[in-house]
Amino acid sequence: MTETALPDYAPLALYIDGQFIGADVRGSEDVINPATGRVLGQLPHATLADLETAVASASRAFESWRWSSPLDRGRILRRVAELARERADEIARDLTRDQGKPLGEARLEVITSADHADWHAEECRRIYGRLIPPRNANVRQTVIRQPIGVCASFSPWNFPFNQTLRKICAALGSGCTLVIKPAEDAPSAAVALARLFHEAGLPPGCLNMVWGKPAEISDYLIRSPVVRKISFTGSIPVGKQLAALAGAHMKRATMELGGHSPVLVCDDADIDQAATLLAAYKGLNAGQVCMAPSRFYVQKGVAAEFTDKFAKALSSRVLGDGLDAGTTMGPLAHDRRVRAMEGFVADAVSRGAEVVVGGAALKGDGHFFEPTVLFNTPDESRIMLEEPFGPVAPISIFDDVDEVLGRANALPFGLASYVFTRSLRLSHHLSARLEAGMVNINHFGSALPETPLGGVKDSGMGSEGGSETFDAYLTTKFISEATG
Ligand code: NAD
Repeated sequence: MTETALPDYAPLALYIDGQFIGADVRGSEDVINPATGRVLGQLPHATLADLETAVASASRAFESWRWSSPLDRGRILRRVAELARERADEIARDLTRDQGKPLGEARLEVITSADHADWHAEECRRIYGRLIPPRNANVRQTVIRQPIGVCASFSPWNFPFNQTLRKICAALGSGCTLVIKPAEDAPSAAVALARLFHEAGLPPGCLNMVWGKPAEISDYLIRSPVVRKISFTGSIPVGKQLAALAGAHMKRATMELGGHSPVLVCDDADIDQAATLLAAYKGLNAGQVCMAPSRFYVQKGVAAEFTDKFAKALSSRVLGDGLDAGTTMGPLAHDRRVRAMEGFVADAVSRGAEVVVGGAALKGDGHFFEPTVLFNTPDESRIMLEEPFGPVAPISIFDDVDEVLGRANALPFGLASYVFTRSLRLSHHLSARLEAGMVNINHFGSALPETPLGGVKDSGMGSEGGSETFDAYLTTKFISEATG
């Protein structure tokens, strides 16, 4: 499929107070296809007046949305889920064009995101309070939970539909309204999502979507006295800056930040299963996944066999434009990631690591980097210390399980972790002791609508999804009434 044979890339827009505002009436930036380097479209930038209007509109809308029935809120979220399933092909096509992932992965992202909208639609009916038995029979003590107010959210470019939808559904489902700034690198899916909410009948002002210079927008929104809560998914350095600003203004903050997920493959593991599954997760979205397995610790007895099978499986990925039928791994989102992969590989090799497969960027247009496996990677290599966020997998050998547990927990990250073993004792031992928000044993089971996603340590605070999903958007109020 060539780009010229495709329908046009859908027009991009700001969405403020129920109105779509296009690039024709605003300053804008180019949106680039990472597979070809070609300009796809123009993304309008919000002016200061736009930001003021968005916040004022969210504030106005909050006064009625906060009292809306959860059944009505659920109906809108459910309609968005239906529309997302109906439009999955067209949303996925543009998502592949501006983000790069293979079309099948993009379609899966849209379809599975619809389940998140359904989950929030159901779960918002269960925002319960409680009655506390009084000391005096003439007193009634009630605890209620109320929406916190106007929220500001910042979603990333790696899963632009899923991550934007999750933040919108959590805010709206709880009765909050929001201004969201998705990532400028891959905007089409977020704009498509705003159109779905508009079509589903969301009242004007409940959702506002803005684009521009990330630091300017986050600074304005976090300082605004109207905004009561922020949510950010992205890198740790940016997350720390935004959390510090939120702290200075006493705003609640949910942070889903980077990880560097350790994988422990033990001697007793099913090596075929471990190699196949791990290569599949590592190659997903070209490794640009916050929960991607990224530090591979393999026990001595199976190190050679695992490395061989894992490298074969990972290198079988076919690199190319995500719109081409044969492609199983797309480009990296931008040139910064390609330069980062080159730096990681050069550093690890200079310290004694061996390149088993891959190791280089592809020549020509587009931001492609080969699926890469490094063997015997020293712990001091940069790639063992910093999140790769790309298709490079460093392998290191270990002898003793408790010794490797110390190495796995030694970094400041704490998002996901993976263990492959047939031992129930080891499974319990390690899952209790790994310092991570999510532990996967012999499979990959994270990021479902009904399960909480979140990290510990520098990987963030708070959870999205699961029955925890509305917690950060609700305040707790205690009411004590004299009844006699
Ligand atoms: P980056 O730090 O430049 O930006 C990360 C994200 O934050 C981008 O979406 C960017 O638009 C946004 N951003 C940057 N400065 C901001 C600000 N002041 N206010 C609001 N938003 C701001 O990193 P990058 O090169 O774009 O991406 C690579 C890194 O991002 C990776 O190392 C990874 O840790 C992280 N990342 C994490 C996730 C995740 O799911 N946790 C998703 C995408 C990227």
